[in-house]
Parts: sequence; structure tokens; C-alpha cells
Amino acid sequence: MKPFIVSSLLLCCLPSVHAGWQAGAAKVDITPTESVPLAGYGGKTRMSSRVEHPIWIKALALRDETGATSVLITADLVGLSTKMVDRIARQALDKHGIQRERLILNTSHNHSCPVTEDVLWLYYELTPEETAARDRYTARLYAQYDELIGKAVANLVPADLAFEQGLAGVAVNRRRSRGPESRSMGGQVDQDVPVITVKTGDQLKAVVFGYSCHTTALGGLSISGDYAGFAQLELEKMNPGAIAMFVQNCGGDANPLPRIRGKDAEATDLARMYGRILAEAVNQVIAAKMTPLAGPLRAQLGETELFLQPGIPLDELKQRAPGLSGMPRREFEHFIRQHETQGGPPDHVAYPVQVWRFGGDFKIIALTGETVVDYSLKFKAAHGWNTTWVCGYNNNLLSYVPSLRVLKEGGYEGVTGMFEYGHRAPYTDTVEEQITKKVAELVRGTEAAR
Ligand SMILES: [Zn+2]
Repeated sequence: MKPFIVSSLLLCCLPSVHAGWQAGAAKVDITPTESVPLAGYGGKTRMSSRVEHPIWIKALALRDETGATSVLITADLVGLSTKMVDRIARQALDKHGIQRERLILNTSHNHSCPVTEDVLWLYYELTPEETAARDRYTARLYAQYDELIGKAVANLVPADLAFEQGLAGVAVNRRRSRGPESRSMGGQVDQDVPVITVKTGDQLKAVVFGYSCHTTALGGLSISGDYAGFAQLELEKMNPGAIAMFVQNCGGDANPLPRIRGKDAEATDLARMYGRILAEAVNQVIAAKMTPLAGPLRAQLGETELFLQPGIPLDELKQRAPGLSGMPRREFEHFIRQHETQGGPPDHVAYPVQVWRFGGDFKIIALTGETVVDYSLKFKAAHGWNTTWVCGYNNNLLSYVPSLRVLKEGGYEGVTGMFEYGHRAPYTDTVEEQITKKVAELVRGTEAAR
């Protein structure tokens, strides 16, 4: 018993010895060691043929003056499933004592990474060998998330945090890029590049930066982090000793444009250039005056429900399924199975939202799924353009998350893209209202705790 008591005392006393922040950054190389099925694009399975550059999971652990430890994790992955989030969060709690609301799991939505576990499972039709490769990769990935959190927490040292934003013009609203019929759709983008720096003395230990844009500059057979991977590489080269972490914000309806398809070398050059543009925007922020961030870090996690419109009736599903093939066939068979085993496809999905507030005004609003840009613009307008960082692509990949505007306009993000995520129909008109209410509640909740 004695060693346990001693270590507990040390743990609880450390924060009062070091006033302010302690921060620890770490990264783990998750590059596959064999050819793997590539994620992100539906249709024919793409097996990786080479590695353009390594891909990573990275963590920033923050311990505030109350002793509470929070961990932000970024990943060069397309997304996580509920099963993966639950397992990673359970490991974080059991092995490292990280409370669920203090763990943000973001992914860059990288389309040049391996397929994992059951993420977007209706997308892919894998052979037994491809499934085995996916499972070997996933098993290693769970161990790597555990290793990553352990390393970040072990690296905690007194540090200073600061925030500011830049701009980069890579993101284009992709809904307008799909031919003449799409030109009447709204074309909003968010080209803000929010940046948090973590310094010990003059040494930059970590730079966390975000952008609202799909990581889809590349569509070939190479493993890479797409433009976000190039941006991180560039920043780490420009700032020796620092770990650069990319956070995907609300890029659900944005692509890096133009893109090149079918000419991999040219496409890679363009992705590298987009990465350099983003890295330069970040570097200019770092070089200028930034606003110090104070603690404590107050974290809240809440959940709302997003309701789905009625699905296709069972008799119609059964009638149409035999005439389909590929992904549409798998979707219909999935809905038929849900009718047969659980009384029908669910009429709603759970939607987690997290808010982290740093000291007074600055806050990170972490949303779930492929959130469209309207949410970023709306919540920054409501809660402070320069004191609010809104990111999507946290927790499980879930689906596209349309605003009411996008839902009413129709199109892929929110209407035709819902089946491939296994949902019976588009969300109802309450989708934006449900999310807005939950965000407001959590933002207030972190204020009220002051
Ligand atoms: Zn997407």
C-alpha cells in the first residue's frame, strides 16, 4: 500500500508546485507495414502500392492548475467508428485516468489511409485477405493509441499556451463544383486557420492547427496524409523539435480545388503545394503576436439526438434489392437485416458534442461527423469569431451533418450520402436546431462552472 499512497500524494501535489499549464506532446507512426485496402472512396477496393510519406497519430496532453489532464488527439485517418471511439476512450480512462469529456478524438478525414475496423463498412467489399490486412492494422492501431496517450502524459512539463488565427485559400465549397445544376447551391467556406502553440521557454513544443477542408487532394494508391500530411511535415521541418498536429474543422462540404485525377505525380505536387500554403499560414501566425491562453480547462461532453426521416418500406427494399449491385445492394440488404432483426432501421442517431473552455473566453467546440461549414460560421458568430474554434470530425464519423440550408438544398452532403453511412434516410428539419441547442447548453455549462 505504501508506494501507492506516496505516488498518489505526488500526483495530487504536482500541479500546485507548477502553477499554470503542463503540456506534453507525442506522436506515433501508424504507417502500414504491408499493402492495405485504402479508405475514403467507395466503389472498387483500392490496395495501397507505396508510401508517399509516413502517417501519424499525435497527442497533446494538457494538465491545468487544478491537476485535471485533458488529451487532444489528431490522426491521419479517415475517421473512427463508435466501436473504435469506445475502445480508445476506455483504454484512456483505465490506463491513463483520462475522463471521457477530457479526450477529444479528431481525425483529418484522410482519404489516403488504411481501412480500419467498421468505419464506413458499407463502402468496401473486401476479400478475406483484405479483411485480414484491415484487422491486423486495426489491432496494432488500438495499441498505438494507448502508447500515444502514455507518451504524451509522460512528456508533461510546464508550458505556455497561446492562440491566434490565420487564413488560407485552399478550401472551395465543393457543392458548386458538380456541374451546372449545382451552381445554384450556396458556396460558403471557412478559410480560418486557428492555431494553438505550446512553448517551453522559447522552444516550440507543439503547434495545433485546423482547417475546414476535405483531405481529398489525392486519389491514387499511395499512403500519405494528403495536403494535411504535407502541411504537418513542412511545419515540423520549419520548426525543429516541434510536433505539428492537424485538426479537421468543418470541411464536410469543402474540397481542396482544383484537383488532378489520373496523374498521380502531378496530383501529389499539388497536394504538397496546398500543404505548404497551409503551413505558411500557420508559420505567419506563430511569428506574430499571439494571445496567451489561461487555465483551467473546463470540459463538458453532452449528447443530443438527430432524427431521421422515414426510410424505404420493407416490401420496397425487398423488391428493389435484387436489381442492385455493389454499395447500393449492401445498403438495401443492411436495411432489410435491420427490419428482420431489430424491428426496422433506427429513427434517430446519438450525436455527441464536446466543449473545452480555456480560462475565460477561448473555447473549442468539438462536433461529431462530417460537419458542414455552416456550423463553424454559425458558432463562431454566436460565441466569438476570435475566441471560438469549431471542429467537426470528432468521435465517430457518423455521417455528413448538414445544416438546415444544406438539407433543403439537397445533394450529396445530407441527402443522397446518408445510405452509405447505414442511415435509413436524411435527417429531419430539426438537425441544426438540435445541435445548436446542445452547443449553447455546453458553452453555458462551461461558463457556469467558473
Ligand atoms: Zn467526407
